Amino acid sequence: MELWYSENHSRDVRFSVRVDKQLYSGNTEFQRIDVMTSEELGTFLTLDGLMMVAEKDEFIYHEMIVHVPMAVNPDIKNVLVIGGGDGGTVSRLVRYRTIEKIDLVEIDSEVTRVCRRFFPKLTAGLDDKRVNILFEDGLKFIRGKRGEYDLIIVDSTDPFGPGEGLFTREFYGNCARALADGGIMVNQHESPYYQDYADSLIRTHSRIKGVFKVHRIYQAHIPTYPSGHWLFGFASNRFDPVADFDPDRWNSLGLKTKYYNTELHKGCFALPNYVKELLDNA
Ligand code: SAM
Repeated sequence: MELWYSENHSRDVRFSVRVDKQLYSGNTEFQRIDVMTSEELGTFLTLDGLMMVAEKDEFIYHEMIVHVPMAVNPDIKNVLVIGGGDGGTVSRLVRYRTIEKIDLVEIDSEVTRVCRRFFPKLTAGLDDKRVNILFEDGLKFIRGKRGEYDLIIVDSTDPFGPGEGLFTREFYGNCARALADGGIMVNQHESPYYQDYADSLIRTHSRIKGVFKVHRIYQAHIPTYPSGHWLFGFASNRFDPVADFDPDRWNSLGLKTKYYNTELHKGCFALPNYVKELLDNA
């Protein structure tokens, strides 16, 4: 008997993966957590039935959410990651020796406990001495912060359930206040392809651009996310992610990557016309 994991990417489109083994299933006060293995994707994590992390393509998402801002401002020292309890973002950040402190604010401690058990490589970076893990709501945590961080990465679930508050104007305004002068905020910014995700993209873009002078969208191909066409937001009151980017400086760090490179950095901000129109109408 075959077991399949399925996720609706829209009302009429379903993404399915043949499952070899269900490794974990549990409910917390925030969400349902499942871990499964598949021949094609390796071990993968879903939250409330939505694909979060798959061994086969997590490197794309985590490299793009970390190396793009770090390449624009290699002097980043204090970083805040909101969400990201799976450890993938932090594990890329700790490769930068120049970073002095990483606060990880994850609402659900069970996500991190489960990922430590089933994704040891992904969570290895969480034990770096510069990392402080706080299990609390990022929306509340950010309210009291002023000028504390050079980079805020919003590595959240989609805008419903616990993640909903992380897509509000209040939250983005508080992130702007929590950033030091010249700070950068990067967030997972949903997708332009299916209507529900495109609606969320437009709402999010209009809220962020009302708070930051610079708000640029960049893209990556993430096969396990809805449509595979995934977007990220880059926001700052000082830096332009392409104009203020010195490829030689980043290349001199000698960081080995599987997806990110400095040519792709410039290219990923060049968006398809239909995406540009969606954003222009936001
Ligand atoms: N890469 C994934 C994506 O793009 O959907 C996100 C990965 S990570 C698992 C998302 C994390 O955000 C989850 O662990 C979830 O518990 C956390 N999260 C959701 N809402 C949160 C909130 N308000 N404060 C802090 N963490 C939150």
